[in-house]
Amino acid sequence: MVAEVRERQEGNLWEMVTQQLDHVAALMHLDPRLHEFLRHCKRTLEVSIPVKMDDGSLRVFTGWRVHHNLAKGPAKGGIRYSPTLTMDEVKALAMLMTWKCAVVDLPYGGAKGGVVCNPSELSDGELERLTRRFTSELILLLGPEKDIPAPDMGTDERVMAWMMDTFSMNVGYSVPGVVTGKPVNIGGSRGRKEAPGRSVAICVEEAAAKLGMRLEGAKVVIQGFGKVGSVVALLLHAIGCKIVAVSDVKGGIYNPQGLDPVRLTAHKRQTKTVSSYRDGDFVTNEELLQLPCDILVPAAVERVITERNADKVRAKLIVEAANGPITPEADAILRDKGVFIVPDILANAGGVIVSYFEWVQDISQFFWTEQEVNERLRQVMRRAFGEVWTIAHDRSVDMRTAAYILAVSRVAEAIRLRGIYP
Ligand code: GLU
Repeated sequence: MVAEVRERQEGNLWEMVTQQLDHVAALMHLDPRLHEFLRHCKRTLEVSIPVKMDDGSLRVFTGWRVHHNLAKGPAKGGIRYSPTLTMDEVKALAMLMTWKCAVVDLPYGGAKGGVVCNPSELSDGELERLTRRFTSELILLLGPEKDIPAPDMGTDERVMAWMMDTFSMNVGYSVPGVVTGKPVNIGGSRGRKEAPGRSVAICVEEAAAKLGMRLEGAKVVIQGFGKVGSVVALLLHAIGCKIVAVSDVKGGIYNPQGLDPVRLTAHKRQTKTVSSYRDGDFVTNEELLQLPCDILVPAAVERVITERNADKVRAKLIVEAANGPITPEADAILRDKGVFIVPDILANAGGVIVSYFEWVQDISQFFWTEQEVNERLRQVMRRAFGEVWTIAHDRSVDMRTAAYILAVSRVAEAIRLRGIYP
């Protein structure tokens, strides 16, 4: 694990996403002025967060909120709590949010935030004080018309409830629309928690239909069995796929006959890991990526498929549930091997799509059923997948390039229409 963390830090995600933008800008003959505009984040706020620890000491944590581009609407994006977080990572993830919102055509700009901390080493009280002080430090940026955070790695609906409450206490009335991914009881949306996994599963179905791949009995490997990976496993299992391997930070479990995701979920709840599950063989996360399968879903962290292991990947279809799991070098190797890749900004957009539904419900104070949420999510995903597929087909490019062309052209057009101030 330490080696994995170190490797992630070595490669710079910001360089990777700007490289992707440069590649697409050249292909689309993007106006160089707009290209230059989009290579920069609009604003980055760095804050120090003093927290009274349970043992009486004081620790000062560092946090950021980054707005990449707001041409299409208020800032939207998650809050990440991670011990290895860097400002460059937050900036990169903010840029990815701009493209993600644009590819599925939401009226939002891209943002991301986070704090350098290990939430599993903090007590509930420490986590709450850290979250409330962080929210307070960001308060000038936040608001339903300005910037709407959501959960990301290391944060959950509890953290969102504290953020919403802190903002509301400061303004003096309840403002549910200031964050999404809240508990349903205080204005959260039904279906939000499962939404990123659900959109990944929809992409598997859409891609399989286009490729003529049978899903009944198709072998699926999922790296990561958290908020996203576990939902993908349950949904794909329900439509007849065979989940042959899953993993978490401690390692994975492989059974070519298929694993039962319902029992795996119960095992994970009890023991906090899937790696000790009896009904299969232990594999490392590195081995897991190289297992024979039809569909591979990286649902853990970024930059796990690199030039070092890409040629050993044996899947025919990869659907990126995590943000940035494949490096550009690995992407080229996989493309040459004929692997069909559904990119992160399309595949995991379900989270922000249902965040958008949550925001709409909060603003209108009119709440939808889970079925309505899921149906609308499917509609948005199908339309976006179809639009990306058509661009890929018409321009003879891969799905990632096509998704970027669609997203970048929408944002560039918004900037062009609005003009550059002053
Ligand atoms: N953190 C999620 C993402 O990366 C959700 C963002 C949101 O809902 O605003 O897409």
